[in-house]
Amino acid sequence: MNLEQLWQAVLGEIEVNVSRASFTTWFKNTFINSLDEGNVIICVPNIFTKTWLEKKFNQEIINVLKNITQQPNIKVIYKIESKKPTSLPNTPIVPVESRILNIKSTTNTLNQFGLNSKYTFNSFIVGKNNELAHAAAQAVTANPGHAYNPLVLYGGVGLGKTHLLQAIGNELLKQTDKILYATSERFANDYINEIKAGRGKFLKEKYRNVDLLLIDDIQFMGGKDGTQEEFFHTFNELHQANKQIVVTCDRPLKTIPALEQRLLSRLEWGMVADISKPDLETRIAILQNKCQEKSYPLPDKILNYIATNIESNVRELEGTLIKLITYFEFNNIPPSLDSTQHILADTITNFQQNSLNSKDIIQAIIKFYNLESKDLVGKSRKKEVVLPRQVLMYLLRDEINLSFPAIGQEIGGRDHTTVMHACTKIENEIKLNERLAQEISSIKQLIKNC
Ligand code: ADP
Ligand code: MG
Repeated sequence: MNLEQLWQAVLGEIEVNVSRASFTTWFKNTFINSLDEGNVIICVPNIFTKTWLEKKFNQEIINVLKNITQQPNIKVIYKIESKKPTSLPNTPIVPVESRILNIKSTTNTLNQFGLNSKYTFNSFIVGKNNELAHAAAQAVTANPGHAYNPLVLYGGVGLGKTHLLQAIGNELLKQTDKILYATSERFANDYINEIKAGRGKFLKEKYRNVDLLLIDDIQFMGGKDGTQEEFFHTFNELHQANKQIVVTCDRPLKTIPALEQRLLSRLEWGMVADISKPDLETRIAILQNKCQEKSYPLPDKILNYIATNIESNVRELEGTLIKLITYFEFNNIPPSLDSTQHILADTITNFQQNSLNSKDIIQAIIKFYNLESKDLVGKSRKKEVVLPRQVLMYLLRDEINLSFPAIGQEIGGRDHTTVMHACTKIENEIKLNERLAQEISSIKQLIKNC
């Protein structure tokens, strides 16, 4: 194990115990610089991170390091250094035996069900964007194996899928301890390890002997045939026994590349619920809730400012709030809108620069196909208009993650099923029709330049 692997192992343990937003905020761009007889230098990108790690995470980092390196005395120094050295020394620093020990202890620190106790229904704010998914999740919790089986939750990145999935798990823990949460990558890795070891039992015991199976980010099973087959059989066995299955996906199931038809049709048996982007009121409510959790109230003016400027993703919203609170705490200044604007200036400019909106995409389509905007929203069924309209719907989904109903609104109040159909059609056609694929990539280029 070299230094980089050591740090990855440490981060792996810490990640389990903190929220994703907090983890990204504090551990992104950190690395170990050296380990010398128990003296560890950890490099961090800035003073905030340094202070925060010293104050809030020091003991945990030390414990995990002790555990992994098996050295009884560890002292950590945090150093501000933003650039990672290009080559890290490759000297093994942890003996093999203690790595084995560590694997055992790692699984101990993990909640045995794979759940993070922070993700509950209580801490989940319900808005128009997620009310259907939330209601379905609650129905499943009230009547597991019978209400909707399977339940599929889908939506873009950072919109609360994992939170809701884990909330089901945490709630049902009150009734049963035969619960398992795993990402589809974990499932795939377990499957691969099982084949390597020439066994066939462990996986079955682990995944088929549960009352509730939660599989996160199922899109990563696309193209992994063996894994899909194993999951297919797992699914059948659990379903037949009325055991509840819930999965999440970051896109509509039909658009997962290389997902076997038979698995797709199984997943569509139950309920498929969409989570889209939260509106302003929901974003404010989420921020209020996070402030409460952190016991750090902020005036509405400030929350409003953050929620207005960060629209796309709850994880980013949370990360921004954490950054702000930390600044106020450590500099001991009272929160004000002026200072907020000042502190968040870079974050918000970055967001605005990176965030495309539907107008940019519509403009690019109009320019590329030489149309007028009334053609796109109009009723014409002419081929010259229908294809661009479908490409527009596809790009609104693919580039800015708009929900299907919202896309319908953008193009003259069309029904969300029309939009879903168009998105699937284009997604499939790109694979077969190289010319269309090229057209779309040129349009994407155009969008970036506008
Ligand atoms: P996804 O799995 O969809 O990428 P996550 O479930 O990891 O997103 O959510 C990202 C972060 O945003 C988490 O910290 C989660 O608690 C928070 N979050 C998302 N939606 C909500 C919500 N409706 N209420 C409260 N917190 C939320
Ligand atoms: Mg997730």
